[in-house]
Amino acid sequence: MPPSPLERKHSFKDRILTCVAGFGAALVLGVVIFSVAKSRGEENAAPLPDPAAFQKEKERVYATIVPDDEAGFVRKPSPKAGEWLATYNEPPQALEKYKQQAKVKPTKDRRTIVLQPLGAFNDEQKKVLEAMKDYAEAFFQLPARIEEPMAFPPKGMEEDDALVRMIPIGHRRAGYDRQYNADTILEKVLKKNLPKDAVVYLGITMQDLYVEQLNYVFGLGSFDKRVGVYSLVRYFPEFWGNERKDGDDVLALTRACKVLNHETGHMFGLKHCIFYKCSMNGSNSLAETDAEPLHYCPVCHRKLMWGLELDTVKCYEDLGAFYAQHGMKEEAAWTKDRLERWKKVLATEAAKKDE
Ligand SMILES: [Zn+2]
Ligand SMILES: [Zn+2]
Repeated sequence: MPPSPLERKHSFKDRILTCVAGFGAALVLGVVIFSVAKSRGEENAAPLPDPAAFQKEKERVYATIVPDDEAGFVRKPSPKAGEWLATYNEPPQALEKYKQQAKVKPTKDRRTIVLQPLGAFNDEQKKVLEAMKDYAEAFFQLPARIEEPMAFPPKGMEEDDALVRMIPIGHRRAGYDRQYNADTILEKVLKKNLPKDAVVYLGITMQDLYVEQLNYVFGLGSFDKRVGVYSLVRYFPEFWGNERKDGDDVLALTRACKVLNHETGHMFGLKHCIFYKCSMNGSNSLAETDAEPLHYCPVCHRKLMWGLELDTVKCYEDLGAFYAQHGMKEEAAWTKDRLERWKKVLATEAAKKDE
C-alpha cells in the first residue's frame, strides 16, 4: 500500500481522534463503544519492529540524555491494553532519524503559524483561540496570527454531500445533528487559501468533524501540504451534556494547546514519541490524551531546537509566563524547574566544549 500523504492516524486517528466504533456497532450493542481507528497512515504500513531491537534503540537513546536533561521526565512504560502503543507499532524516531526525515522548515518568508477560524465562536471560544495563538508563539518561537474568520460551511457548500452528513437520529447530541468531512475541508477549503507566509495553516472549528468510516475525528492534517483542521467542540463539557465544573475552562485550554503542539509538531516532521511521557505520544482516546503531559520530552524538544533553531531559554520563559497567566499551575511549576535544569545542561555542555 503506498504511503498516504495524510496523517490520518494521528491527528486524527490517533491521538485525537478517538473514534467511536461505527454507528452500526453502537446500535447493535446499545452502548457507545470506543475502538481504535483502523489506521491508513504511513507509519502503520511499516513492518512491526522487532521488540528486542525496539528496546535496544530506546536504551541507546536514553544513554545519550544527560541526567540534568532527563530530570523531570518519565520514561514511557510498557503500554496497557487499549493504549496507543499497545495497538500500533511505530518505529522509534531518534534525533538523527528526525534530521533525515524532517521536510517542513520555517524560512525567512514563510514562518508564520496561521490559525483559521472556521464558522462561529462564542466569547469564551474566541478567548481559547487567542490563547492558542499566544501558545503557538511561545512553544515554537515563531510568529502566529489568527486569520479573519471564514464562513462555515462555505457559501454554496451548505448541502454538499462531500462536506456534510446528518448524524443518525438516536446518535445526535443536543445541538449537534450534523458533522463535517475533514478531508473535504483540507482539499476544498484550506489548501486553496494557504497564506503565502504560512509555514502551517490550521483550520479551527467548533463544528464536529468526521472522516469516512469513522464516527468522528478530533482533526486531520496533511504533512506535505502544511494544512490541518481541528475541532475543539468535544473539549468542552457542554458537548457531552455535562454541567460546568471548576477547572473545566483550564482543561479545555490545556486540550487545545495539546492538540496544537502535537499536530504542529507532526507538520514539522516529528513522529510519535515512544521514549518518554510526552505531548508527542500517540493516543487512542481523550482519556489517554488527558493523561499525557503538555510538554515535549528532551528528545522531541531537541528536534524543535534543530528544526526551528529554537532558543530554549526564551521558549521556557515565554511558556512559564503563558501558563501562569492562564492558571495552568502545574505546567507553570514544571516549566520553572525545567528552565533551571536546562541552564545546568547548557553549563555542562559549555564546560565539555572547553575541555
Ligand atoms: Zn499524532
Ligand atoms: Zn517526546
